[in-house]
Amino acid sequence: MKCPYCGFYDTLVVDTRSIKEASIIRRRRVCRSCKHKFTTYERLEEIPLRVIKSDNRREPFNVEKLREGILRAVEKRPISSEVVEQIITEVQQEIAKKYVLEVPSEVIGKLVLKKLFDIDPVAYIRFASVYYQYDSIEKFLAELKRLKKLFSKKQSNKKVEDKNETK
Ligand SMILES: [Zn+2]
Repeated sequence: MKCPYCGFYDTLVVDTRSIKEASIIRRRRVCRSCKHKFTTYERLEEIPLRVIKSDNRREPFNVEKLREGILRAVEKRPISSEVVEQIITEVQQEIAKKYVLEVPSEVIGKLVLKKLFDIDPVAYIRFASVYYQYDSIEKFLAELKRLKKLFSKKQSNKKVEDKNETK
């Protein structure tokens, strides 16, 4: 642990405490060089999840990257930050149900698409266009076609529901 004051590489841990129910460990440290005291917080993590990219490369799962992708898709749409965080939480929970060590990036993309589909068609299409961009235009167009079908189905279902409600 590097000292934040002088940059010296060796610090001594003088006290360690865990903060209950948060999986966080607080460590009081003192720099062996300048003697400054400071506190660090360490989060207890399970084995970090890795993402399998389409070319088989692996990279650490990055929630920030996921958030950025979603935020780009919902830009200027009437979607609150709370909804965005909800999507992120649900996607992570769904990943955790099935994947422990590694998850294909395709799975993450599809989970986000599923959420956006129910929330906002514009955000959905934006995300899909990024998601499919390295694939092929044919695949994207096929997806749009499928989407169009689903939306008209959704609309007609909605009409049926509306009718039932007015009865
Ligand atoms: Zn120091």
